[in-house]
Amino acid sequence: MSDKLLRTLIEDGQVSLVAVNSTETVRHAQIIHGMSAPAARLFGRVLTAMTYMSCWLKEETGELSASIKHRGEAGEVCVSGDSRLRMRGYIYNPAASTDVLGKGYMTVVRDDDYGKPFVGTCELVDGDADKDFEYYYRLSEQLPTYIRTDVLFDERGLCKAAGGIFLQPMPGASEIAVQAAQNFREQLSDFGERLEKQGMDGILKAFFGVKEWTETPFAYGCRCSREYIAGVLSSMGEKELRDILRSEGKINVHCHYCGSDYDFFESDIDKMFPHAPEGEEAGKGDGRETERI
Ligand SMILES: [Zn+2]
Repeated sequence: MSDKLLRTLIEDGQVSLVAVNSTETVRHAQIIHGMSAPAARLFGRVLTAMTYMSCWLKEETGELSASIKHRGEAGEVCVSGDSRLRMRGYIYNPAASTDVLGKGYMTVVRDDDYGKPFVGTCELVDGDADKDFEYYYRLSEQLPTYIRTDVLFDERGLCKAAGGIFLQPMPGASEIAVQAAQNFREQLSDFGERLEKQGMDGILKAFFGVKEWTETPFAYGCRCSREYIAGVLSSMGEKELRDILRSEGKINVHCHYCGSDYDFFESDIDKMFPHAPEGEEAGKGDGRETERI
């Protein structure tokens, strides 16, 4: 199962409209991270906004990640996506009882694979994810972007609908077109219910009167693999790894994005360092990064 991102233009080509149906992706994340409904609501809205941001990545190897650090109960929210719209992330407190963002800031890192990632940081302004992403766009792109995201849950508290509408007037758009985009955002206060009842195609046709659009499928996807983790571990140096083996019996690496656990034993470390005698390899890196990759 995959979700869909739909792209089109409205208002005589003056406003870009992107519609994201992220229901399956958010539900998958909720299940693997064991998120409460409020935590999944916050996470889902951030993931939906990040899917929108990722769809503008130009390079095939490009990657985008956002970290929202704030004082609210849910704690840090991290979401990243790539140009193929493989989305992944985690939330610090999956058991949170509220989705409100506290005071804090959002950091967005866009890596176009040119060797120098773009890093943008802005303060959180509203306690509401949509408004914070709008503010980020106003600062970073100097263009108004109108955002409406929502996540709905069934009676068991499991995500049953998630998605968002993103309206961005093109440079040179008329005042009327900009106002129309803003009005659409206001009128979509029941967006989640509409998404559940009409589906995204239905919203585009019935609400926006759009007939044509392009569709890009996307899903939750983690890029971690045993080979990748082994590469990260080997860069720490043999001595460090042997020390952990001695004290822990194994080296466990937990991927915070997808919940996978990777265990490495003595035989694995032997394979990583087939010739280097024990103790000769100097430890590199800070050596304590096994918890977070
Ligand atoms: Zn992973």
